[in-house]
Amino acid sequence: MLLPRFEYHEPTTLEDALNLLHELGGNARVLAGGTDLLVKMKRKLEKPSHVISVARVPGMDQIIPRNGHAVTIGAGVTAAELARNELVMDRFTPLAIAAGKLGAPPIRNRASIGGNLANARPAADFPPPCMVLNATLKLKSAKGERDIPVNDFFRGPGETVIEPNELLVSLHIETPPPWSGGSYIKLGARKAMEISMVNVAAMITLQSADGPIVDVRIALGAVAPTPVRALAAEDLLVGAIPSEELFRKAGEIGVGMCSPITDHRGTMEYRCMMIEVLTKRCLTEALARAKAWKP
Ligand SMILES: Cc1cc2nc3c(=O)[nH]c(=O)nc-3n(C[C@H](O)[C@H](O)[C@H](O)COP(=O)(O)OP(=O)(O)OC[C@H]3O[C@@H](n4cnc5c(N)ncnc54)[C@H](O)[C@@H]3O)c2cc1C
Repeated sequence: MLLPRFEYHEPTTLEDALNLLHELGGNARVLAGGTDLLVKMKRKLEKPSHVISVARVPGMDQIIPRNGHAVTIGAGVTAAELARNELVMDRFTPLAIAAGKLGAPPIRNRASIGGNLANARPAADFPPPCMVLNATLKLKSAKGERDIPVNDFFRGPGETVIEPNELLVSLHIETPPPWSGGSYIKLGARKAMEISMVNVAAMITLQSADGPIVDVRIALGAVAPTPVRALAAEDLLVGAIPSEELFRKAGEIGVGMCSPITDHRGTMEYRCMMIEVLTKRCLTEALARAKAWKP
């Protein structure tokens, strides 16, 4: 299948990229790794007259530690880079696990975190980890910039708050406090190259290795039009001493917060069952990492 005709732009500064987006607006699409956009263009689902590559925009592909307090991740950073970055693996674990499970190596070498979020597929791998890590997304345009908490970013399948003249430039994530740990679990019909049937991310912060839970976040993907935070399940856990039974109840509550569908990947009933099982499993893994936390 041939790509439709379009004009290709490859700006080498952020300013040029933003000016192009300002001039071309809705007629242009941003190109990062192209693993979503080019597929859609080949299928004629998208026919932009201009494509703006961000491959040569400085800083888009960098992971910058902020004195141990936070990290800034460029929107163009690939899944492969996130999966092998030691800081991300150590302190922002759900993100590294999700990165290692996205597609297969050739896809991971191209697929960017920004493209994954901007594409807003309900089953995408990066949204739940970003949600439990409380990421803030930086959007820039020729007119200014704004910071959007990831929980306010998704509007529906394929829809986000990004305006046509805006570029998602980076994500800012505060380092989780001591005694924090996280995990991510993806369930697909096959072991590799599979979009999630259900995915779950969790972060737990304990008061001390054997203390109560002081903070917890659970996010579920592929179970509703946008990824969802299981807030009622989180409420149950805060202040409690973690236990298997408590995590089981959290999973049960999580099911009530979703509206999964039946499709070729799985039935609604199976998805509900899996939300319960995987939430419990993900919390158990997050807890083990929180207990093993090291300065
Ligand atoms: C074979 C295959 C397997 C896949 N497996 C998975 C999987 O397991 N899990 C999963 O989640 N996804 C999967 N995908 C989908 C895709 O690889 C990911 O969503 C990927 O992260 C998209 O990133 P990209 O850089 O390729 O985005 P692109 O295709 O370049 O862009 C995607 C969309 O985001 C917009 N965009 C990109 N960057 C920006 C930016 N900085 N600012 C504003 N808008 C932007 C583009 O205009 C476009 O609309 C798969 C795709 C293929 C082809």
